[in-house]
Amino acid sequence: MKLKVWGGVLVIAIGVIVFLIVRSTLFCEDCGNQESEKEHDTINAVYDIELSLSKTEEFQIAAAIGVTNYSRDTWSDIGFYLVPNAMNSEETRLYEDEDLEIDVSSVSVDGQKAEYSLNNNELMVELNTNLEPASVVNVAVEYSMVLPQNGMRLSQVDDNFYLAHWYPMLGHYQDGWDIKDYDSKGESYDTDYGDFTVSFDLPKDYLVASSAEDGATEAASSGTVQGENIKDFYLAIMNPDEWEFETVQANSADLRVFTPRSANMLEETSELAADAYVYFEENIGDNPFGELDIIANDGYMEYPNIIEVAADEESQESVLVHEIAHQWFYFIVTNDPYNEAWLDEGLTEFSSSLFISDYYDDDEYGFWGASMAQEYYPPETYVNLPLDEFEEGSYYSTVYGKVPMLLKEYFDNLEGDRTALEFLSAYYTEYQFEQVDTEKFKVFFEEYFEGDQSEFLDSWLK
Ligand SMILES: [Zn+2]
Repeated sequence: MKLKVWGGVLVIAIGVIVFLIVRSTLFCEDCGNQESEKEHDTINAVYDIELSLSKTEEFQIAAAIGVTNYSRDTWSDIGFYLVPNAMNSEETRLYEDEDLEIDVSSVSVDGQKAEYSLNNNELMVELNTNLEPASVVNVAVEYSMVLPQNGMRLSQVDDNFYLAHWYPMLGHYQDGWDIKDYDSKGESYDTDYGDFTVSFDLPKDYLVASSAEDGATEAASSGTVQGENIKDFYLAIMNPDEWEFETVQANSADLRVFTPRSANMLEETSELAADAYVYFEENIGDNPFGELDIIANDGYMEYPNIIEVAADEESQESVLVHEIAHQWFYFIVTNDPYNEAWLDEGLTEFSSSLFISDYYDDDEYGFWGASMAQEYYPPETYVNLPLDEFEEGSYYSTVYGKVPMLLKEYFDNLEGDRTALEFLSAYYTEYQFEQVDTEKFKVFFEEYFEGDQSEFLDSWLK
């Protein structure tokens, strides 16, 4: 009898201990925070990419990606975005440009040939053995591609090559892979921070500008660039005869500015860029990266540490400032651009409007672009819609127009620009190198303003 009783006590004691352990992992708030912090400190993908361009203007790409399973699930496959595969009229409805030609020649995992499927921009690589949490596997993908002339983002323009979303980009795993189809209306790929080594081999000397710190600007036919903590890696290969360039200082960063020789706009572009960069650093927060490249190729697009801006002086101001502000909101504080585009586009346009207002000392002038955007088409009631639920016109008017305008109105009632910048600065400080979403924004907003903000927030956020 005694034994039985002690046995029962032992069973109960073990039960209590197991319960406490399970409870501490499932419910302890601190433990949850530790988990999420750990997630952000870990780089999930280490890319080693070799790129070569032939005399016939065909790229060969060999990408090796060390992937860590950062989730709590066991993986049987790994999802990547291979956007070049969707850049044709067969895969993408309403695709307007020349088709991009891509030919995938091999996919392997840890040196062994692997099964894979490729649909639209979703590349799913099958693993021969399951990948346990925290384990690493090396995926290699080789392919050739010919870029569309004057295409969208990933494009060849005469003897210049603009490589956006050009390599297999690791998807964002959350209870499964969720690789959305390519949608050129916004950015349809949700990628996380990675470390990159990219080597290039070109048929002659070109100017190369990338998401890495490229250093002194000199035309070269080969080289290797490296960058850490980069959300997606962009690279431009430019004919030196077509560009003039200079490097200007903005606080501790080098801004490498490239403008078309024919446009005669280098000095003005550099000056405005440096002013905007310094303003965002001083009012919102330090940018930890040492170099920002600025290419005036009419791309109107942000990438980590490099932006594409207008190629004429008249359009430059609002474009240049907007794309610079994206380094703070999109790159250093990041979000899913498919489901939460309002967060990066809206806060970027808001920040850039604040700078332009300050620059001209006119509280309304900076918001001229946003108010025009809002007028352009009836905006949606709720701004946090996925990309495919917006019409083309309402996406633009809602995300670029309505969001900055309603924030302006809110802050105008709270002593205006100073309060707005302090808020943006606190938000930037809190979420650097983190993925934010609408819910996190709401919680932060309510804590920051110490009290119920639901009437305001719920009127435009679902
Ligand atoms: Zn933008």
